[in-house]
Amino acid sequence: MRVFILCVLSQHKVINMSTSQQKLSHAVVIGGSMAGLLAARALADYAARVTIIERDTQLGEAQPRKGVPQGHHIHALLKSGEQILNTFFPGFTAALIANGARQIDFAQDAVWFHHGGWKLRYTSGLHLVGQSRPLLESTVTQFLHKYPNITWKTGWAAQEPLTNPQNTRVTGVRIQHDDGTSEDMHAALVVDASGRGSKTPRWLESMGYAAPQETTVKIDLAYASRVYEIPADFHHRWVSLLVNAKAPDHLRGGYIFTNENNRWMVTLAGYSGTSMPDDDASFLEFARSLQVPDVYEAIKNAKPLTDIKVFRYPNEQRRHYEGLNRFPDGLIVIGDAFCSFDPVFGQGMTSSANQARILHKLLARMSPMELGFSQRFHKQVAGFLFVPWMMATSEDFRFPKTQGKMPFYYPIMHAYTAQIFKLSMTDPQVHLAFARVMNLIAPPTLLFSPLIVLKVIRSLLTRRETFAPTIEPRTLSVV
Ligand SMILES: Cc1cc2nc3c(=O)[nH]c(=O)nc-3n(C[C@H](O)[C@H](O)[C@H](O)COP(=O)(O)OP(=O)(O)OC[C@H]3O[C@@H](n4cnc5c(N)ncnc54)[C@H](O)[C@@H]3O)c2cc1C
Repeated sequence: MRVFILCVLSQHKVINMSTSQQKLSHAVVIGGSMAGLLAARALADYAARVTIIERDTQLGEAQPRKGVPQGHHIHALLKSGEQILNTFFPGFTAALIANGARQIDFAQDAVWFHHGGWKLRYTSGLHLVGQSRPLLESTVTQFLHKYPNITWKTGWAAQEPLTNPQNTRVTGVRIQHDDGTSEDMHAALVVDASGRGSKTPRWLESMGYAAPQETTVKIDLAYASRVYEIPADFHHRWVSLLVNAKAPDHLRGGYIFTNENNRWMVTLAGYSGTSMPDDDASFLEFARSLQVPDVYEAIKNAKPLTDIKVFRYPNEQRRHYEGLNRFPDGLIVIGDAFCSFDPVFGQGMTSSANQARILHKLLARMSPMELGFSQRFHKQVAGFLFVPWMMATSEDFRFPKTQGKMPFYYPIMHAYTAQIFKLSMTDPQVHLAFARVMNLIAPPTLLFSPLIVLKVIRSLLTRRETFAPTIEPRTLSVV
């Protein structure tokens, strides 16, 4: 009997090892934006063939495209996202810079008016890259073209899943070309990276499963953006300028990033249904109405190179795939299709990169052909999402018109983080800790280290006015 059990166990192990080490025959990714591209990269190490199905046709060009309208607006890449891109594609940052991106020191070259004061300027050693969203996507695509097992089907849209007769496994996807032609594409794994408009909830219901529960936080945010030529007489006192809205009263923010080709991408943002500018005069007027005049001063005589593009973002949205007890194998959901954050926090692409990293790690241990792969993936992604979701939504709940179910502990967080924000205007250690947490390269517990807690208590007790009154750089350095 003992021998029999040992035999069964060892056989089981062999089966497990062979399935996880065997290459998948074919994986299909729906959507060729950041989440889809990075999922394809993760899969390329474990699948003989990966096909990206993308509705748009102009993929890989450093120009905004129809399926990614947010490409007209400012896109910050957090450090965690950049690090993952460099792991997936060694030399990524260098390639991005060679393509025109600008590397900056987050605390020295970016000036940031946040929570009613200017953040401290000093040399932090925390370097970020600044570029347009289309340039980032086209650089990722350049790297992906080096993978012979990844192919694109552009101009094709995923229509519905193909399943086994029992509906327990997704076995592929039916796709339709712009010209109306349909095709069935069979795959061992289908990855839904089709963004917020993902059809997976409906597909699940049509297959006899429950759709995931959704948490939404209604913020009624809108962006208005345009590209400017940098004026010849600009004094280059900063590379990026950020002026955040401040709850409860200041609903408006403004951002200037220096992108490739030495152009300014200027985005104005308004929360809680703020009406957005749509012509030259109202754009400048909006900029002038911000808490500090710096955005207005920078652009008032600058030459706009593009029209104003407006993007409305009604609500943050999180689909709780991790909570479903029944889920078909052969299908996973990734990126904005899973969770979409307030864009002001710049987390979406980095979240997609982290999810692709989770997929890559899971594929090293488990085959998508094994039962429960999808559910395990969704649970791990949900574990990752907790922190960025909390960081974005807790700040959004400071605005009185934000709607949704606020977790009971957010008011406590508000009180504590208000002190962190205040201290990061004068204290480089607190600033750097905050910047690392915000860039998702350190856990939020860093803000509760004994030293920082002590500084917060001292700041509360003394109630000293610590706002830095200027955007001029200091000679401090923590590198
Ligand atoms: C205004 C705005 C500003 C933002 N700013 C930032 C920022 O500063 N930093 C940051 O990290 N993130 C930002 N984001 C979020 C970021 O754009 C997304 O998180 C990121 O693009 C990843 O999304 P995704 O790939 O999951 O989906 P999407 O980018 O929405 O892409 C979905 C893709 O799927 C394709 N598609 C859809 N349906 C189908 C179908 N049926 N068949 C085939 N293809 C299909 C679409 O054409 C598209 O290419 C911002 C978002 C918005 C709206």
